[in-house]
Amino acid sequence: MLCTKCGKREAVYHRRYSGESLCSRCFLQSVEERVKRTINQYGMFEPKDRIAVAVSGGKDSLTLLQILYKIEQKFPKSELIAITIDEGIGDYRREAIKLVGQLCNRLGVEHHVYTFREIYGYTLDDVVEAGGVEFKPCSYCGVLRRRALNFAARELGATKLAVAHTLDDEAQTIIMNLLRGDPLRLARLKPVSDFVHPRLVRRVKPLCMVPEAETALYAYLARLPYTNRQCPYAHKALRNEVRIFLNRLEFKHPSTKFTIYKAFERIRPAIEATIGEVKLNECKICGEPTPGEICQACKLLNKITNHQ
Ligand code: SF4
Ligand code: ZN
Ligand code: ZN
Repeated sequence: MLCTKCGKREAVYHRRYSGESLCSRCFLQSVEERVKRTINQYGMFEPKDRIAVAVSGGKDSLTLLQILYKIEQKFPKSELIAITIDEGIGDYRREAIKLVGQLCNRLGVEHHVYTFREIYGYTLDDVVEAGGVEFKPCSYCGVLRRRALNFAARELGATKLAVAHTLDDEAQTIIMNLLRGDPLRLARLKPVSDFVHPRLVRRVKPLCMVPEAETALYAYLARLPYTNRQCPYAHKALRNEVRIFLNRLEFKHPSTKFTIYKAFERIRPAIEATIGEVKLNECKICGEPTPGEICQACKLLNKITNHQ
C-alpha cells in the first residue's frame, strides 16, 4: 500500500486514529511536526533558552532529544544539554547511560549524569530495602527523580527542563489520580508547569500529544540507540495496570487516549479554580521549592531514616 500523504513510497505504519497510512519519511516528519505544533501552541521555549532534556535512555526520551536537536538547529542562540538520573537500581541504568552518551556524542550535546546516591546519600535499592515488602518503589522513585532533575537542571544553568512524557503517560496519570481519589492533584498536570520560583526550572512536555507507540516507531525508524530493558520494579506499579487497560481500550476504540487527555484539558480550569493559586515556599530541610513546609522528597526520606 502506498503512503496516503506522499503517494510515492510504501506505507510502513497505519495510524488507526486518523486513518492515514504513512511511509517512513512521512511518518518521521509528521511526528516532528506534531512536536513543533505542541511547542508553539503552549509557548514552551524562547529563542535563548538553555534546554535541559531529561534522557533516561528509553525510546521516548531519545526521540525527544533527537527531535529537539533538529528543531534547535534553527535557533542558534538556544542550547541543548542532556541529563540522565541514575536511581541506583542494580545495574539497570548502566547500558542506558552508555547509549545516551553515544547519541549525545553524535549530536554534539553535553551529557551529564547525576545519581540518587550523590544527591540523597541513598540508592533506590537502599530505599526499597529499608522500606520492606509492602513498599512501592515507583512512588519514591518518581518524587526523588523529579527533585533530582530540577536540582541538576538548575545546577547546570538550564532555563527549561524538557521531559519525555508522552500522550500515554498523561492519560495514565489522569486515570491513576481518579483511581486514587485524588483528582485535585491533576491541576498540576500541564504541558508547561506554571509554578514560579527562582529555584524551580520550568518543566515542559513537548511529547504530550504523541502516543507512546509512535515514539517507539520513531526511535526505531530514526535508528536511535535506545534500550528496551525494563526496570525490575516496574511490575509493582499501578501505572503498569493502567497502561494495559488503556492499551486494550485504545485497540478497540482508537483515539481513546486523545479523548481522555482533551476531556481533561477542558475540565482543568474548573479544578484550578477550586484549588486557587498555589504559592511555593522553600522546604525547611533542603530548601527546594514546595507548596507546603517540607517537600515531598524530604518527607519520604525521613520515613526511610526512621525505618532503619
Ligand atoms: Fe523508578 Fe518505578 Fe520507573 Fe523503576 S519503574 S525507574 S522504580 S519509577
Ligand atoms: Zn510518504
Ligand atoms: Zn526538602
